[in-house]
Amino acid sequence: MKFHILTLFPEHIHNGLNSSILKKARDKKLIQLNLVNIRDFANNKHNTVDDYPYGGGAGMVMQPGPIVRSYNSVMKEYPKKKRVIYLTPQGKTLTQSIVEELSREEELIFICGHYEGIDERVIESIVTEELSIGDYVLTGGEMAAMVVVDAVSRHVKGVLSNTVSADIESFDNSLLEFPQYTRPYEYEDMQVPEILLSGNHKKIDEFRHEQSLIRTASKRPDLLKHALLTEKDKVFLLNTCHISENML
Ligand code: SAM
Repeated sequence: MKFHILTLFPEHIHNGLNSSILKKARDKKLIQLNLVNIRDFANNKHNTVDDYPYGGGAGMVMQPGPIVRSYNSVMKEYPKKKRVIYLTPQGKTLTQSIVEELSREEELIFICGHYEGIDERVIESIVTEELSIGDYVLTGGEMAAMVVVDAVSRHVKGVLSNTVSADIESFDNSLLEFPQYTRPYEYEDMQVPEILLSGNHKKIDEFRHEQSLIRTASKRPDLLKHALLTEKDKVFLLNTCHISENML
């Protein structure tokens, strides 16, 4: 999968995505980052890419020309039509289902804003959608782009060594993941639940599923409305987790 990222700080993204699983994925070319420096398309003596906002106000705004020219350069080299995502706090909030949907694309373009953001005409002319990573404001879109690349890459075939681990995880069917344990068996008087040592996989699956229901009910009850629950799950939630019917 190819991520084209239009940014003023390509080295920030290169370094941020250059260790552990994503480094291996890049080395194996399972994911490719095409980091395009918007400043290279400034077309002026001082390489300026921002200017004062029309109408006044604090801060600077990124000019449309350099961004659109950097986009055109990507499209010239990789002409296949692709989604163009502007990272912005005003966008749709990123969720696991958006991540999974994006992972089905072969290429994506991200635009990272800075300062007060980008000239509105960029959004009107080339952006196909706007994405936010949460209701708070960052100094630039680079961190947000890295979050999206990381989350999407986990769904690219071969990136995770254990293919199962991307499926059975928090938000799968809108439930949080069950608690995990590893060695030692006993840690400061706390033991691993016996069932996990039983070798009975049917019972272990049942235990984990119930734990997922309990966790979701206590930490994120808002998710339950979106989960596909069996009648048995509902009875369990009503009786064990003190969830009321209107929350399901
Ligand atoms: N003035 C803009 C506003 O109020 O909507 C915020 C600009 S912000 C300081 C600078 C850049 O950071 C934005 O252009 C955007 O690319 C990025 N950014 C900030 N918060 C973000 C968020 N929650 N999600 C995604 N990108 C964000």
